[in-house]
Amino acid sequence: MDGRISSNNVTAHGGPGTLPNALKELWFETGGSCHLRCSYCFAESGGLDESPDNVSIGRIKAYLHEFKKLVGERIGLVGAGEPFHPRNIRDTFEILDLVRPLQLKTTVFTTADLLDGRSIKQLEQYPNLLLLVKYNSRICEIQDAMVNVKDTPCEGTQ
Ligand code: SF4
Repeated sequence: MDGRISSNNVTAHGGPGTLPNALKELWFETGGSCHLRCSYCFAESGGLDESPDNVSIGRIKAYLHEFKKLVGERIGLVGAGEPFHPRNIRDTFEILDLVRPLQLKTTVFTTADLLDGRSIKQLEQYPNLLLLVKYNSRICEIQDAMVNVKDTPCEGTQ
């Protein structure tokens, strides 16, 4: 390894270990609204929905097509808030609809407690979809304390 770019790999340093010289995964954040108030929230949820820096759905569509052309493989919808919050769910499904024909594997990061029968049925239409469910504790008091909201779903309420 001498640090030079080869056709498929680029070395981060002269030692062992290579990074793929390709963008394989692309992450999107949907709106900042969330029903929880986790003290560790990286996004400090809320307040992002109206930002002029937000990327429009039209631009996301263009990025997705470019990503597919570049042989991208996976999409992550991490959400700056909860992707299935009522203020975000439309955007989430709009992005999933854009991704589906491109056959990209997609992971949605979610608390999952806002999903109802209708949205679960809708999610079943996306064959390459994975939900990564975030959960703090099965103990109600701990769960409520972590998310700073009373009576969130925990053991005994699900
Ligand atoms: S669920 Fe996620 S987005 Fe919502 S407050 Fe907690 S960390 Fe932030």
